[in-house]
Amino acid sequence: MKDIIQLRDRKFRVMIPAEEIDRAVCAVADRLNADYADKETPLFLGILNGSFMFMSDLIKKIEFQNELSFVKLSSYEGTESTGVVKSLIGLNGPIEGRHVIIVEDIVDTGKSIEHMVHDLQRRNPASIEVCTLFYKPESYKKPFPIKYRAMEIGNEFIVGYGLDYEQLGRSLKDIYVVTE
Ligand code: 5GP
Ligand code: MG
Repeated sequence: MKDIIQLRDRKFRVMIPAEEIDRAVCAVADRLNADYADKETPLFLGILNGSFMFMSDLIKKIEFQNELSFVKLSSYEGTESTGVVKSLIGLNGPIEGRHVIIVEDIVDTGKSIEHMVHDLQRRNPASIEVCTLFYKPESYKKPFPIKYRAMEIGNEFIVGYGLDYEQLGRSLKDIYVVTE
């Protein structure tokens, strides 16, 4: 593991080693295993691209029968005065009556997750919860409670383990934080 890495114009230093991430993923998986043991085939819905590595490690620790799928939030310019609209793409099949667990890499202000939750709620699932690898408590201001948070961090910018800086750094197994 290199202590300092360069991605484009910024330098990053190691903040959370892979072993610590693994412990946090195990702990959140334990909670899910307890809470969903008696639920009918819950659906894990990962948000691309950032959640791919978290989902991969998390799902291996899940002991109940489950389904897994990935979706993407795409931004496009509205044709009228609506500004930037985010739409959910890649969801195939109805989720009515299903227990849905949204898997996110990081919840910051909560804008992205709010879009996702509203979109999914219109489709009448039995329940919706969010399971995020990282949560920024000082930044999150939305009403929807984020029930499953593997780790909490301050208002800093991190990369690695799926998270990118201008598309770089997703493959790093440790988490790095930007340095001044
Ligand atoms: P929100 O909509 O909650 O403000 O932001 C969520 C999205 O912003 C995340 O899914 C992620 O793509 C990006 N993001 C927020 N904070 C960070 C960070 O510290 N590092 C990286 N790489 N992306 C972040
Ligand atoms: Mg994301």
